[in-house]
Amino acid sequence: MAEKTLLILGGTAEARGLARAAVKAWPKMRVLTSLAGRTLSPGAIAGEVVSGGFGGADGLAAFMKEEGVDLLIDATHPFAAQMSGNAVTAAKRAKVPFLTLERPAWAFANAPTLMEVPTFEAAARTLGADSGIHRVFLAIGRQELAAFSQLQHLFMLFRFVDPPAQWPPFKNCQVVTGRPGRVEQERELLQRYSIDTLVAKNSGGGVSRRKVEAAIQLGLKVILIARPASASATHVDTVDEAVAWIDEQL
Ligand code: NAP
Repeated sequence: MAEKTLLILGGTAEARGLARAAVKAWPKMRVLTSLAGRTLSPGAIAGEVVSGGFGGADGLAAFMKEEGVDLLIDATHPFAAQMSGNAVTAAKRAKVPFLTLERPAWAFANAPTLMEVPTFEAAARTLGADSGIHRVFLAIGRQELAAFSQLQHLFMLFRFVDPPAQWPPFKNCQVVTGRPGRVEQERELLQRYSIDTLVAKNSGGGVSRRKVEAAIQLGLKVILIARPASASATHVDTVDEAVAWIDEQL
């Protein structure tokens, strides 16, 4: 059998785990992980890595043709909707078997202070309408801050993996850099900045979940933003299921 080429659209722990598992299971397969290239130190990834984007769905389809990609797995973050949409279109166009690996959304039992809203704009409206909200941990990354720009009366706490090139556009805010810690550390962060409300994306996964658990434990308000709809027809939740799918395709 000719050697196959697997392209993984990455940027998540699951993508990293899948690359590792695929390299281990099929040492002769070419395992290629693609990153957007926004994180300064993304860490080691098994196999080959390309970075910087393709130039839309057409660019991705052309890349797959040039590189002889046989299988495409979208393992990007559940909120990377643009990339995921491009992947669906490009896989159809290039007639490459396609799978989405997406960790399940969180569900929280016994969380009376938690509400889920459909969009970033709805989260901003909820913050603006509640006069009991003063100090917010806006844990949504850097890209969607514009939706909250009217809320200049609130204190905003941000955490970014890398120091931001531009300070967030808020009069009263603080930035910490780093990745999520254990639940106790997340609780300590919320207390240190006297946070009363956490806004987060329903990203799923164990690491990002800790800040939500910490906020629930402290009885803070939690506004979770629901995931964008996916256009993919073939989903799995775990790396093991993705490995089984690859096996079926070979
Ligand atoms: P996005 O808005 O869906 O994508 C915007 C553009 O970035 C895409 O059109 C593509 O450019 C490029 N891109 C995104 N992911 C890529 C990948 N894996 N490989 C190559 N190009 C990629 O994406 P995003 O939300 O900015 O996320 C960027 C990266 O960060 C993704 O790898 C994602 O898994 C990771 N991430 C995102 C979040 C989040 O909350 N959004 C959280 C953690 C990690 P071209 O059109 O030029 O191909």
